[in-house]
Amino acid sequence: MSLDKLANIIFPNITKTPQDYMAQYPPRDNPNMITRYAPSPTGFQHIGGVFAALVAQRLAAQSEGVFYLRIEDTDQKREVEGAIDDTIATMHKYGMDFDEGMTGDSTSKGDYGPYRQSERKEIYQAFAKDLIQKGLAYPCFATADELSELREQQTAQKLTPGYYGEFAKYKNLPVEQAIAKIEAGEPYIIRLNSPGDGTTRIEFNDLIKGEISFPENNQDVVLIKGDGLPTYHFAHVVDDALMHTTHVTRGEEWLSSLPIHVQLFQVLDIKRPQYAHIPTIMKLDGSSKRKLSKRKDVESAVTYYDEEGYPIICVIEYLLNIINSTYEQWREQNPTADCTEFQVALDKMSKSGALFDIVKLNDVSKDIISKMPAEQVYELYMEWAKQYDQQMHDLVETKSDGIKTFFGIDKDTAKPRKDFAKWADVKPKIVYLFDEFFDNEQELELPKGVSIETARDIISQYKQIYDHNLTSQEQWFEHLKQFALQIGYCANKKEYKNNPDKYKGMVSDVAGAVRCALTHRVNTPDLFIIMQILGEVTVKHRLEIF
Ligand code: GLU
Repeated sequence: MSLDKLANIIFPNITKTPQDYMAQYPPRDNPNMITRYAPSPTGFQHIGGVFAALVAQRLAAQSEGVFYLRIEDTDQKREVEGAIDDTIATMHKYGMDFDEGMTGDSTSKGDYGPYRQSERKEIYQAFAKDLIQKGLAYPCFATADELSELREQQTAQKLTPGYYGEFAKYKNLPVEQAIAKIEAGEPYIIRLNSPGDGTTRIEFNDLIKGEISFPENNQDVVLIKGDGLPTYHFAHVVDDALMHTTHVTRGEEWLSSLPIHVQLFQVLDIKRPQYAHIPTIMKLDGSSKRKLSKRKDVESAVTYYDEEGYPIICVIEYLLNIINSTYEQWREQNPTADCTEFQVALDKMSKSGALFDIVKLNDVSKDIISKMPAEQVYELYMEWAKQYDQQMHDLVETKSDGIKTFFGIDKDTAKPRKDFAKWADVKPKIVYLFDEFFDNEQELELPKGVSIETARDIISQYKQIYDHNLTSQEQWFEHLKQFALQIGYCANKKEYKNNPDKYKGMVSDVAGAVRCALTHRVNTPDLFIIMQILGEVTVKHRLEIF
């Protein structure tokens, strides 16, 4: 009776019970996987968030379940305006749409809402009130000073720090005294009255980590904070129960608080979903692995991939590669299949750490871009350039046919060229096609073994016989070869090796000099096509000024 009184003094306006909410949110008709993405609206889209969301979304989609968005905004100091819209837009861009949940800052869809924790205050309080009535939760009046004193005392005695057992000063405070304190206006929070003594071990099957075991929780963790909002521990347990999540997929940083969560489900006497703790995204720093850091690593921000111009599909496929290393082999066997046809399997996920490796991302990306038709490469590049490199966008537009031709060089071969991993790679590979850059370009690469004097000597003669009307690569090369032979270069490698003194060099040196005069580069795709793109006037001009 007095516990009821205490509960009513703490939550006078809460009239509903957990049973009422259970009835309001009955089990779903959908028997498949119900997963969620549950970010805090801090406004920073971390690639780890996309990674975690992708796991949850794939599981739901491949089982025809439900994937929903829940906003965990109980720490209101950290909230950033517009973050929900930003999250939704980012996920959409990465191919993930929510079946249910928040659809904007203040809108949502679905029958299991509200989907924003700050709007669920009364629900959490109803569950907390019920626990108080049962003696499973209590108001705690410990001040910050008291708590730090306790911590010091425990540390000095080499004891586990925290609010538990004999150290939980307000655990057994007589109800009448608690009521008196509340009536006197003393601030308080609500803590769990943990039934654990810390000795029993709990066996747990995590869908990624496998069988794990840990000591039962004995900490009287905070359930409701001073502002009346719940902690993450309490909120997610209540939410995942009422929203009927079947699989909680979340970062492994939560693994250490799993004992608390397991106990909360027991104490609340509600069904626990299955858990899959996703390995943290790591990166190699020198020879050691460390967490991808928001502060140190530009690639931790999702915006990085936009700015660099990675096609979204490349990032998605790369993330699928990290989720399941079998993805690569699947892709080889199913070169044209949509990546969503790949079945993500939690038990095939790395248990230890997902290594994020830009070099590997670049490989995956180059591969995908190399298989895109030239027209698509052009369009995606222009879309990116319009936003991130207006100058290139406008220049490329003036030569659109030529650039499409360039993007198409060697496309339809067994080994298509892999020039670009991202759109920021395009400019350095095509600048020489534009006089605007070529005229100002300082750097000039010379073929190995050919001096600038020799190259100039070759070009001074070549420009006199250059014929822009040759219609194929073969014709052009034959013409160049005849010229090279006439001016004393050798067409046969063996012959040249045996009699190096008889020749000025190899035909390839002559081709290299022409390439250098026209592009200032030693490596370019097919020079004949480049000359067609440049056009007769430009080719002749460049030969002239070399
Ligand atoms: N809001 C939590 C986070 O951002 C979500 C953890 C979970 O998915 O349960 O880390």
